[in-house]
Amino acid sequence: MRTIELNKRQETILQIVKENGPITGENIAERLSLTRATLRPDLAILTMAGFLDARPRVGYFYTGKTGTQLLTENLMKIYVKDYQSIPVVVPSNVSVYEAIVTMFLEDVGTLFVVDEKNCLVGVLSRKDLLRASIGKQELSTLPVNIIMTRMPNITVCEKDDLLIDVAKNLIEKQIDSVPVVKVSEAGYEVTGRVTKTTIAKAFISLADDEV
Ligand code: ADP
Repeated sequence: MRTIELNKRQETILQIVKENGPITGENIAERLSLTRATLRPDLAILTMAGFLDARPRVGYFYTGKTGTQLLTENLMKIYVKDYQSIPVVVPSNVSVYEAIVTMFLEDVGTLFVVDEKNCLVGVLSRKDLLRASIGKQELSTLPVNIIMTRMPNITVCEKDDLLIDVAKNLIEKQIDSVPVVKVSEAGYEVTGRVTKTTIAKAFISLADDEV
């Protein structure tokens, strides 16, 4: 994947293989008046990055893929299960006060509200809790299920979904996170969460070529 700039020699190698491939390493080295050993790291980089392919006894050939195509290919390999984090859940009978405390203690921006079977019934964001705090209500007796966003209006994802699709959902729906759920007879069991931070982490790993 083209996240690192290719150096001049790597660009030249790419050009040679484009025009002459399949071509052996030996042959490329000759054209550049360099030794095969000198070229080895460059060929390794170009192969690992997906620009070149190598076949034994045939040589190197150009894959014909652009940097963007390779980036897209890698993006399509990132699944929710690879990056999801642990969900923070609260039962639906906790008070707004307790939810606020939980949000601070757990250091998250969204809480998922679940029933006694750990199935999703609601979502509480920072602003939901702030809104409830503006009024004159007694926060320690106000249950969260009065103020939460509730099912079936909750955007969810599953562990085998592509992270890019969840990212699109976060932007389209203007939300910060979605619960990762496992569908069962009882409902949507909450097993994880994907947040904007999750997406940022995956984005960085693409640049670091960790995919
Ligand atoms: P904040 O309120 O801190 O800006 P969000 O943008 O995530 O955080 O939340 C905006 C609104 O959308 C809130 O009312 C929240 O309850 C709701 N919400 C948050 N996550 C989801 C979700 N996954 N599905 C549906 N609604 C959500």
